[in-house]
Amino acid sequence: MTIKNNKCSSFTSQCVNELAPSGIRKFFDLVATVEGVISLGVGEPDYVTPWHIREAAIYALERGYTMYTSNAGMPELREELARYLLEHNRISYDPTNEILITVGVSEALDLAMRAVLNPGDQVIMADPCYVSYAPCVCLAGGQPVKVPTRAEDNFELRAEDIMPHVSSKTKAILLGYPANPTGAVMSREKLAQIAELASRNNLIVISDEIYARLVYGVEEVCFAALPEMRERTIFLGGFSKAYAMTGWRLGYAAGNREIIAAMTKIHQYTMLCAPIAAQKAGIEALKFGEPDIQEMVGDYNRRRLFMVKGFNNIGLSCFEPKGAFYTFPCIKKTGMSSEDFSEKLLKEEKVLVVPGTAFGDHGEGYVRCCYATSLPEIEEALARIKRFVDRH
Ligand code: PLP
Repeated sequence: MTIKNNKCSSFTSQCVNELAPSGIRKFFDLVATVEGVISLGVGEPDYVTPWHIREAAIYALERGYTMYTSNAGMPELREELARYLLEHNRISYDPTNEILITVGVSEALDLAMRAVLNPGDQVIMADPCYVSYAPCVCLAGGQPVKVPTRAEDNFELRAEDIMPHVSSKTKAILLGYPANPTGAVMSREKLAQIAELASRNNLIVISDEIYARLVYGVEEVCFAALPEMRERTIFLGGFSKAYAMTGWRLGYAAGNREIIAAMTKIHQYTMLCAPIAAQKAGIEALKFGEPDIQEMVGDYNRRRLFMVKGFNNIGLSCFEPKGAFYTFPCIKKTGMSSEDFSEKLLKEEKVLVVPGTAFGDHGEGYVRCCYATSLPEIEEALARIKRFVDRH
């Protein structure tokens, strides 16, 4: 161990040293230094958690619910989830052995990777994709393999593009649809082709369906519910987006009992359990939160249409996203890179967007704009972006 200038690089692991810092952070840090910014940056609902859900947690605390729960999560929450998944996704999971309550989908992703990967195993994922996917694979000793997706294909991940990347090292495919950052939703037909490929090559599929309830006029297909996919799929879901519960840190994984047992083993040593008040809130959300989802989805849909139309009018062609709460307009005609565009737009017009490259090399030429913000703010942001594009 060498200590130079009070720094010791060997104090931190090589794996962590090699991880690139998140490309989003830099922009969020910049925002803190500028006043009057309209943020289309952060991927979180602008709603506060519905009152009845907050009240359920407050009431639980008043009654003294302040302790650990069972590692897998409160039985009542797991039973409620099993009922919910049967109703919404037409898939049946045993609440005792096949559902694990986690600290957000973030923890569930990490557990899934650590539970299934051996050193050097490869995990196939779309490019661009959610910022945590590749780091989670690396931290579990695996290798991410990025497969480009394109606007011409509605940013769907195509089985024929995956195929050339499958080798003896491939262990899993990581799907994240409806997608962050593109807002793409996979069709049943395209998912069935991936299912067939997974069966043929005996691959696990980890399906992050955190945005499942935020779809606009299209069907959201649960991957695990496709024929013969249940046993090879780790289904990840959460409360953050649909119920506006990002700060509660609650999510879940469902899958075959062997994989869920492996994930639970890691979870019990590292996390112990998800917070009890959040679990109480989750029960309320699943039982009585349906009208809240409908209301928020109606609002997001209006903002989505407004933003897509706005970008196309400005001359920045914008693929119509059918899910989540992001648009992914193409900024190639400005001649700027995604990073330059985002940095200059922030400095000159005080609008925060995220460069597509924060989500992978194939995000170049695009920026991510979150429409979980009020219509007047979106309107003003679009006016500023128009001014910026006209000027450049
Ligand atoms: N998966 C995707 C695709 C996301 O966009 C996010 C958050 O932005 C997460 C997972 C993390 O969700 P959670 O808040 O449940 O940890």
